[in-house]
Order: sequence, then structure tokens, then C-alpha cells
Amino acid sequence: MTPTVDQLDTDVLIVGGGLAGLRAAIAAAEGGVSVMVACKRKAGRSGNTLVAEGGIAVSSSDVDPGDSIEQHIEDTLTSGKGLCDPVLTRLLAENSEKEVFGLSRFGVVLGRDKSGDLLRGQPPGHTKRRSLRTETDHLPKNARGQSITLPLLKFAENLGVTFLDRTPVLRLVSRDGAIEGALTMDEEKERYLFIRTKAIIIAAGGAGQMFSHTNNTADITGDSYALALDAGATLRDLEFPQFYPNWGISPFRSSISSVMMGDGAIFRNKEQDRFMPRYYPEAKDMATRDQTSLAIFREVQAGRGVEGGVYFDASGVDREVLEVKYHHLTEAMRRLGLEFGKDPVIITPVVHHYMGGISVNGHLESGVRGLLAAGEACGGTHGANRLS
Ligand SMILES: Cc1cc2nc3c(=O)[nH]c(=O)nc-3n(C[C@H](O)[C@H](O)[C@H](O)COP(=O)(O)OP(=O)(O)OC[C@H]3O[C@@H](n4cnc5c(N)ncnc54)[C@H](O)[C@@H]3O)c2cc1C
Repeated sequence: MTPTVDQLDTDVLIVGGGLAGLRAAIAAAEGGVSVMVACKRKAGRSGNTLVAEGGIAVSSSDVDPGDSIEQHIEDTLTSGKGLCDPVLTRLLAENSEKEVFGLSRFGVVLGRDKSGDLLRGQPPGHTKRRSLRTETDHLPKNARGQSITLPLLKFAENLGVTFLDRTPVLRLVSRDGAIEGALTMDEEKERYLFIRTKAIIIAAGGAGQMFSHTNNTADITGDSYALALDAGATLRDLEFPQFYPNWGISPFRSSISSVMMGDGAIFRNKEQDRFMPRYYPEAKDMATRDQTSLAIFREVQAGRGVEGGVYFDASGVDREVLEVKYHHLTEAMRRLGLEFGKDPVIITPVVHHYMGGISVNGHLESGVRGLLAAGEACGGTHGANRLS
């Protein structure tokens, strides 16, 4: 029996309902065109954005008086080992202030300390305290990204964006080098849908689930790259997955923010030796994610690891900072009858982010007419190693 294929029409189709997909949907809808978002899971409640900790880098002298766009670019290029696409890196830094502070327009709230100042941090590789975070205290530890996605989802719905949940895009259709639509599967109604459109924005995230050790959500399986490649786009830098060093494996499995290294946390091996200064005498525990992951790997290989990782020692972090800024972690430990900063925590590196991806220009166009990409689907912004 030949399966039936129903057809829908839209001006713009967005593939994926994470931060990039939602932000692209709002931008397109505000431009006055009809917009559909097809999402493999549920828009606003899926992808790596769901589990993100809410840390966002902003280059603004209002955040750190010594900071500038040029400094942010320089830090990103250095961390990326000179392999960043300078056009994309500039695009990121130049728009960070406008985009991050602009999130309040959608109802996103930035985190503040008790005196009302924005919570700031300096994760490894950043030379300035430019990392802000969203207010996440009301959300479960592994769904903190909803502090951003749920307000954006609501805003997009109010603009009339159509959301097709549980509708993975299976294949893009193009003719004579131009996009004509996409074949999707409506899993609830068990039917194929052909969505006819002249513009598709791929925002289906990275590819962490290709690896056995990853903190990515189950839906992040490289679909962005497969769809784009199949449609004739070019991929770049796929040899650069990012390992995130601070993945807690004991006493809980969860991300531990690398921003805490800037607040005084350090790594120790099985012998309680603070090993990072041996590898990176200047940066020490503030070395970038790739460097730290490599150092941990070497310690484990040399037999100085614990349970395949190393200790994360937060005893040097101010107690109030631990309670306010890292509330989720102190609470998680407390629930286990333990004290964060005192009782041992073990971390290990896992695949976290994809620096490679779809090759795009400064307008996020892929080279296939009508095919664009956004978010982690794009390659090149971060070169060989992404700052946080
Ligand atoms: C544990 C963790 C913590 C993190 N913390 C931070 C942080 O604090 N700060 C920071 O800047 N970054 C952080 N990151 C990285 C950041 O979360 C991601 O890079 C970012 O959220 C990617 O957004 P995105 O919209 O491009 O993709 P995603 O948020 O991954 O969304 C992809 C979407 O595409 C959908 N999809 C997938 N395949 C298909 C398909 N075939 N058809 C239709 N839909 C599809 C998915 O269901 C999902 O809705 C973290 C990542 C992880 C894993």
C-alpha cells in the first residue's frame, strides 16, 4: 500500500524548536510572512537548549567596564585556535548585547544577586566577566533552558507561528538548486506531510548523540547536517566536537557550570594533587574546555583518575556565591545529605557541543537557494574550541 502524503503550505519552514528555531521563527513572523516550525519532539521542551544552564556571554561595557566587542572576538578566535570563521565570530560578538538584553522583550528574566545586580561570571577562556545567566531557580535542574524557550514559544504562538510537534523533518526537497519543501512525518497521526515552502531554516541542533559519552538530549542526532548535506549544502569542521570537562558523575549526573572555575573552583586527581598548573602554568584551572578535557584524560590514563574522572573541588568558592549562583547544585547535594564545597564531587569530560556544521555566510545562507541555518546547526563560529 502506498502511504498517503498530505500537503501544507508556508512561506518559511523552521526545522527544530530549540532556542535557534524559536528565535528564527519570531524574526520571520515579525517580518510579516507565514511561519511553521516542525519539531522532532516538542518545541520549547526539547533539544540541548532544554538542558542548558542558562549562561550567556555578552560583550558590553555595561556588564564588564573593561569589555568590548573586539575583546570578545579576540577571546573567541584565540579559543578557536585561529580556525573560526571571522565573519561569523564578529556576527556573534556584535549582536550579543542587543540579543541578550533583547530577550526581556519576550519575557525572559536575567538572574540577579540579592542586591539586584546582574549575576556575572568569567568562564575559562574569557578574559572578562561577561557571562550572564537567566533566572532559573523555579525550574528543575535539567530543564533550566525553559527559562528562555517557554517565553519565546509563547511569544511566537501569539505571533501566529504554527507549531508541528512530534513531526521530524525526514528530507528536504529541492529542484534546480532551490528549495521546494520538506518531507516530514506526523508521528501522532501516523501520516507523511509534505510542507511546500521556498525557505527553510535548519535549526535542528548538533550531533552529540553520535558519541557514547555525551550530555546532549536524545533527539540531537546530527539531523541538521544530514538534511543539509543531502540537499546539496556544504558541511565544515566536523572533526571538532567539543568535550565539556565538568560533567558530574558522582554523587549526581549533571552539568557543573564551568563559570565556577572563575569563582575559585579547581580540579584535583586521585592523590588530591591540583594538576592543572602542571599542564597550563598560566591559565591553570581556567584553561579552556578542550585543554581541561585533555588534561583530565591524561590524568586518568596515568592512573591518577577516580571512577574515570577527577575531583571537582569547590571548597574555594565563597559560600554565598555557591548558595545564590549555584543554587541547583547546592540543593542537589543537600537532598543527598551532602554539602557542596565540602563533600567529594567527581566529574568527567563528555561531548557537549558541535563546533562544525553547515557552512553558511554572514547572512546564514547555505549556498542552496532558500536554505539557511541557525544555532548549533551552523559550523565555523567557534573554530576548534567554543568558549561558553
Ligand atoms: C547540558 C548542556 C548544558 C549547556 N549549557 C549551556 C549554557 O549554559 N550556555 C550556552 O551558551 N550553551 C549551553 N549549552 C549548549 C547550548 O545548549 C546549545 O548549543 C544550544 O542550545 C543549541 O540550540 P539550537 O536551537 O541550535 O539546538 P537545540 O536546542 O539542540 O534544538 C534542536 C531542535 O531540533 C529538533 N530536531 C532535531 N532533529 C530534528 C528533525 N529531523 N526534524 C525536526 N526537528 C528536529 C530537536 O527536537 C530540538 O527541538 C549546553 C548544552 C548542554 C548539552
